[in-house]
Amino acid sequence: MTVALETAAKAARTAALLPVYRSYEPVLMGGSGVRVIDDAGREYIDFASGIGVNALGYGDEGIAAAIQGALETGLIHTSNLFRTEPAGALAERLVGLSFADRVFFCNSGGEANEGAFKFARRYGRSVGGAAKHEIVALQSSFHGRLFGSLAATWREAFRTPFEPLMPGVHFVAPEDEAALRAVVSRARTAAIIAEPVQGEGGLKPLSPEYLKLLRSIADEVDAVLIFDEVQCGYGRTGKLFAHEHAGVTPDVMTLSKAIAGGLPMGAILVNERVATAVQPGDHATTFGGGPLVASVANYVLERIANSDFLAEVARKGALLEQLLNGLTQLPRVKQVRGIGLMWGIEVEGEAAPVIAALLEAGVITTAAGPNVVRLLPPLVISDADLAFGVAKVHEVLQ
Ligand SMILES: *Cc1c(COP(=O)(O)O)cnc(C)c1O
Repeated sequence: MTVALETAAKAARTAALLPVYRSYEPVLMGGSGVRVIDDAGREYIDFASGIGVNALGYGDEGIAAAIQGALETGLIHTSNLFRTEPAGALAERLVGLSFADRVFFCNSGGEANEGAFKFARRYGRSVGGAAKHEIVALQSSFHGRLFGSLAATWREAFRTPFEPLMPGVHFVAPEDEAALRAVVSRARTAAIIAEPVQGEGGLKPLSPEYLKLLRSIADEVDAVLIFDEVQCGYGRTGKLFAHEHAGVTPDVMTLSKAIAGGLPMGAILVNERVATAVQPGDHATTFGGGPLVASVANYVLERIANSDFLAEVARKGALLEQLLNGLTQLPRVKQVRGIGLMWGIEVEGEAAPVIAALLEAGVITTAAGPNVVRLLPPLVISDADLAFGVAKVHEVLQ
């Protein structure tokens, strides 16, 4: 290793960083396409996409050009006291491509869900008064690590050390109509929130029937239906938005992860019914929708919303499914499940040692809950690289 690399790796491993992450050992130094390289010169194929962010892989020239173009204006940031073209154009495109009428930009997935809850409560209060503030979330959900989004996140170990969180959240088992009906009411329910494909909570796709049920029950009690598509949206499932598979639309949808090519950005898409309840001064952010991130997001959306691109994701998703079905006869594999380029391999016992062994073998994956190895390859991955990665997974699981 050169001195420069050694110095860089040492800096990366500093004890000065708050140790909230169980970081993998290798220090990443560069990337290209679907591969990254570490400080020892080892190459890895990335089946995690930086946890669902790097949909276009590494070193994408279009992203670089979008950043460069934005820099040339000199406007990295302006404040939201001014309007700028990139955010306006992006909002219009998102509205044109979805159920939504209005868009609010923020900086992360958790922040998007916090805003969605505020908008839902604003709506609830406007139609039903202060009592109509409760939020119904699902078991196995993940909506973020902030006090509101965390309150609606299922895993107890994430929540308990930080209680009291935002009150008024009920959890129900997915796919259970009676459980849902037992907690919702016109008087108290402001919102129902669900990930159409649950990510962190174990990679669990919700059935189209259940998503339709959520829609009809939300309508019955005049609650806001929020779909959290922070992970499953933006082409990941082979359609631009995962809920399109079920043919139902929410009132509010949150996005983040992949939307700005690796720059931090979130978005809250709302329909007119909810938008009319939100007043000037109700919500704000310093950075959200700034010209640099929005310029990159415009480029990313142009790539991903392209129908040929989405058709390719769907085709590669079917290939990945077929490849993964070859794992199901292995004794350590309990189930494979997913859609598009979003898959979970539920293993016997803990997922962590499998993920460590995969890393050792040159494949980056992440866990989705304690027993699931999650695969979220970049959407631009080739057939050959899908086969290459799954072959390694097969080797390791054997
Ligand atoms: C990652 C994720 C979040 C949280 O996003 P952050 O940017 O980490 O706050 C919320 N919802 C879902 C479904 C996610 O996958």
